[in-house]
Amino acid sequence: MQYCKRCTYPIIAVNLAMRDDGVCSGCDVTDEKSSIDWKAREEEFRRLLEEHRSKDGSNYDCIIPVSGGKDSHFQVWYITKKLGLKPLLVTYYTHNYTETAEQNLRNISRAFGVDHYIFTPSLKMVSKMNIAGFRKMGDMSWHFHCGVWTLPFQVAVRFNIPLVIYGEHGFLDLAGQYSLSDRPEFTVRDRKESYLRGYDWNDFVGDEGLTEQDLLWAKFPPDEEIARVGVRGIHLGVYTYWDGNANAKHMQEFGFKPSNEVSERTYRTISNVDDIHENGIKDWLKFVKFGYGRCTDHTSKDIRLGVMTREQGIELVRKYDHVVPRKSLEYFLSMTGMKEEEFFRIADTFHDPRVWWIENGEWWKDNPWGEPSSYGPVHLPKESWVKYEKKSS
Ligand SMILES: [Zn+2]
Repeated sequence: MQYCKRCTYPIIAVNLAMRDDGVCSGCDVTDEKSSIDWKAREEEFRRLLEEHRSKDGSNYDCIIPVSGGKDSHFQVWYITKKLGLKPLLVTYYTHNYTETAEQNLRNISRAFGVDHYIFTPSLKMVSKMNIAGFRKMGDMSWHFHCGVWTLPFQVAVRFNIPLVIYGEHGFLDLAGQYSLSDRPEFTVRDRKESYLRGYDWNDFVGDEGLTEQDLLWAKFPPDEEIARVGVRGIHLGVYTYWDGNANAKHMQEFGFKPSNEVSERTYRTISNVDDIHENGIKDWLKFVKFGYGRCTDHTSKDIRLGVMTREQGIELVRKYDHVVPRKSLEYFLSMTGMKEEEFFRIADTFHDPRVWWIENGEWWKDNPWGEPSSYGPVHLPKESWVKYEKKSS
């Protein structure tokens, strides 16, 4: 496995590309940031908002999808305090909020004096989606991603609000999927292929007894409706310099609270803290699949921001990436009634043979510190081991 020689990403991560000299596309796009005229970009953003806002004050100016974290706070601060507009905040409530995240979510509307539409799906449905997503693709948070990339558009169509403003473009920032000069916007294709792993709501009908009526929140509005309102989804991170660490610090002035507990899987206490599984088993499953976890995401970002060296990053990856998050696991098992043994048996089936091989009954993979190591016993039946024979590198 090839690792970027500047950050900590393996080439298999988040669809990134590697240059011949061993630097990844995510690092490349970070370099672009210093050559962009951010003042001109902000002007461009103002013009875009002016074009789409409610001219006569009879409606909201835009929609901001929020989960409640530091970036949500920053988006709302930017639109209300800096630009003086009237957004409608929209949240798909996952039922997986930590205590601090819940406080942060409730804080935004108070701190910035705005209306907040929180959609609370039934706990019974979420519990079924947790199991179905885990069995289908090793991701119990699929419903969460579907909610984030669907509900704001349902609300946009219902209330005739043509502009939806997301924060950073995740795949641009982490992987360099697009250049900042592309000014990528939301597309239905990205929704399905990148965010929803190629699945849609109808793939879940019948799983765990789920019906179409259970999944109404997951239906993206028809093209005619999107066209009637002229809905566009854009990313604030394309128009203003984005620094998550600085945003977290700044937003504490407006009541944002970093997580007060140390995560089992990463050193950052300001990121991905909204949902108990985001830095928990959902992320541990990413390690099981692709051999890297949240700590690799965070160290890559922080190395690019100049907060730490690659060596420091690698030490953290070594400490955190493989750790099984007990708290999130126990929460998942109690919500779904699944037995721990069954969970690990299913999880084992998701190992990607491009990353993992089996040696003496144990899982092995390469590491950014140069030498391979083993990561525990294999639970798969022996006849399926052939897929995981060590490839000569
Ligand atoms: Zn890199």
